[in-house]
Amino acid sequence: TRRKIVAGNWKMNGSLGSVVELVKGIKSDDAVDVVVAPSFVYLAKVSELVPQAGIKLAAQNVSEQNKGAFTGEVSLSMLNDFAVSHVILGHSERRALYAETDAMIAQKVEATLAAGLTPILCVGETLEQREDGTTLAVCNGQIDAVLQVVGTERFADVVVAYEPVWAIGTGKSATSEQAQEVHKGIRNHIAQSSETVAEKVAILYGGSVKASNSAELFAQPDIDGALIGGASLDAQEFNSIIENAK
Ligand code: 13P
Repeated sequence: TRRKIVAGNWKMNGSLGSVVELVKGIKSDDAVDVVVAPSFVYLAKVSELVPQAGIKLAAQNVSEQNKGAFTGEVSLSMLNDFAVSHVILGHSERRALYAETDAMIAQKVEATLAAGLTPILCVGETLEQREDGTTLAVCNGQIDAVLQVVGTERFADVVVAYEPVWAIGTGKSATSEQAQEVHKGIRNHIAQSSETVAEKVAILYGGSVKASNSAELFAQPDIDGALIGGASLDAQEFNSIIENAK
């Protein structure tokens, strides 16, 4: 059985003071992998607090390059200096607002695995694509772009986050049935390459997850946790989601 993962994507929010308060307010649980993703500039500070809090640390992005003349970028070895264990990649905001392509994201996943960190690969359809009936084709296409670069065996170490674009920050979560259907479709797709890998891969749901809808989502057989934006900025709300994942 797969361990549940509850991950908070803090996006471009908070201040030095507020992120310290937030992480101190989180109640981790041995039964759940709790991950937080602060802004790059706060990773160093938060990394001092997470070990004793029993929380894992994620970056929200990374460069696929090792080092050199890449102004504004952050490398995997820099993340390794701060005990970062996870990297969120291919978030729909990176894809839509910063023009990250499937090819770029695949290179970033490859580099992250090579550095020994866990990529959290985000996939998901827009509202238009859902209405066109191409949801699974879009998600599986985004997964195939990565599978082709990293290979099936190494994909076992990738965490997938299904985040329908229309559910992100809208308050309009996918229903647990809608999410389960896509999660199962993604797992079945991976199983066509390897059933063992498909069984191992954790698939998180993201998009307007809050305490009140989390239990029902976590009860679905193919939902292995959540990637949470807005609700992860409130320690009490986030703690309730962790409780529901046990
Ligand atoms: P919300 O939980 O705010 O909808 O954001 C989801 C998300 O994008 C997490 O990566």
